[in-house]
Amino acid sequence: MATSTIFFDRFYNAGQIVDNAPRVGDTTYHGIDPSTGTPLWDVPVARENDVDDAVAAANGAFKKWSSLPQQERSRLMKDLAACLEKHKDALTDVLHKESGKPRPFAESEIMMGINTMRRHAEWSVPDQLLKDTEDVKIVVQHVPIGVVAGITPWNYPFQLAILKIAPALATGCTIILKPSPFTPYTALKIGEMAAGILPPGVVQVLGGDDNLGPWITSHPGIAKISFTGSTATGKKIMAAAAETLKRVNLELGGNDAAVVTEDVDVLEAAQLVATATFAHSGQICMATKRIYVHESIYDEFLAHLVSVVKSYRLAEGFCSPIQNKMQYEKVKSIYNDCEEQGYTFALGGGKTFSHEDRPGYFISPAIVTNPPEKSRIVQEEPFGPIVPVLTWREDEDVVKRVNDTHTGLGATVYCRDEKRAWKISGSIEAGSVWVNGGLKLDPVALFGAHKQSGIGGELGPLGLKYYMNTRTVTYWKTSSKGPQANSDNTSKGGLFT
Ligand code: NAD
Repeated sequence: MATSTIFFDRFYNAGQIVDNAPRVGDTTYHGIDPSTGTPLWDVPVARENDVDDAVAAANGAFKKWSSLPQQERSRLMKDLAACLEKHKDALTDVLHKESGKPRPFAESEIMMGINTMRRHAEWSVPDQLLKDTEDVKIVVQHVPIGVVAGITPWNYPFQLAILKIAPALATGCTIILKPSPFTPYTALKIGEMAAGILPPGVVQVLGGDDNLGPWITSHPGIAKISFTGSTATGKKIMAAAAETLKRVNLELGGNDAAVVTEDVDVLEAAQLVATATFAHSGQICMATKRIYVHESIYDEFLAHLVSVVKSYRLAEGFCSPIQNKMQYEKVKSIYNDCEEQGYTFALGGGKTFSHEDRPGYFISPAIVTNPPEKSRIVQEEPFGPIVPVLTWREDEDVVKRVNDTHTGLGATVYCRDEKRAWKISGSIEAGSVWVNGGLKLDPVALFGAHKQSGIGGELGPLGLKYYMNTRTVTYWKTSSKGPQANSDNTSKGGLFT
């Protein structure tokens, strides 16, 4: 296994990689450790010519990389996974600092990313034989799209970077990755390690300011944008991509509901819902953001939920800081709106939620009971540790309320009657529905979305298809029986059979 000298020389001093070489800039920027407010390491700001160079290198590398046998690409992906694993402790330290998540959670994200790389190394998309008769053979071939740009957010900087890189590598695409400026470090480290293992131009990582994203999305040399982030930015990306008809994968914001029926073990359901809601202080796209509980168990469920969440300790376990100041202000504004509107808090409330007296961006968990359906706390994605708990009586009514939103990322149903659980889950307009346990993402399962939560999908062998174009080859075995020989194109054997 090859190794990168860049990486070993300076672990904490990450840099950009273009064409397997470090790329410095004229200026630098840095992230902030959200649990202490301390500035982190300086990294270069990409310039427009860095993007041009990376695109040229990625296009130059594409032909050779895409024509390698899949087993060879797979071997190199496993080498990269092994290199990442060898340095998992250092990567965990960096992720812990850049994201603010407690170390055990940072470590589990690093391992999740490494496993994601390994799983993708096992998958490919075989050609499909549609027809093979005496006259004709029709095959659908799946061919890599070309140069992909991956753009990622700050909440899972390592795992989401791998989720862009792994399908690109598996399908034979080359990729330029742009991490969030709030959390650039582990993604830049992946670029450095990849430079020691993969051919030049196959994986490149650029970081920078607000100019970088638009330079990438408008670049004519890029064939596809694979984006994870907010719905608002997703719309801008789709508009920019339209100019050159780039393919887009958009993994966007959600407002996932949990539906709790009256036949559950109430304590167990409250514990599961607490985890799915408050893990990483709610900064997870598929975290539960609205909790609908059947009216007959509402009081008991709420009491258990409050008691579970009350036991959380700030800065430990699930209670990470909010990752950045902008997001901190957004969560505070939703919290303040609940206060101003006079909604009832079962947990939190008063001026106890934010901790301006301590460094970092901490917000205590809060639970709001039965706010109006059209309130901000029910309609918007807070992406923070505040959640509404609402009552319902009829299945049809709760499904209608769950679906009454422009988003459709995920949902969770807690229900022990299997027939009823399939019926409710089958009526929910979302890319993923989990039953009796949220936040459980199996890597084989496609993660997609409905409505304004996204386009396309990631994960599983099906996710690879979004990195590929199709080419249908129709081979006429006997030219005299081909369509040209037919005088009547509408009859059997003609053009439209
Ligand atoms: P964001 O949209 O602000 O930023 C995401 C990325 O886009 C960053 O790298 C940013 O620098 C870049 N960007 C911003 N403007 C751009 C532009 N005009 N052109 C190109 N790139 C641009 O999102 P965020 O605040 O970093 O992340 C939080 C959001 O991400 C939440 O809404 C959350 O639900 C969503 N998210 C979705 C998923 C999913 O799989 N659906 C996963 C994680 C996070």
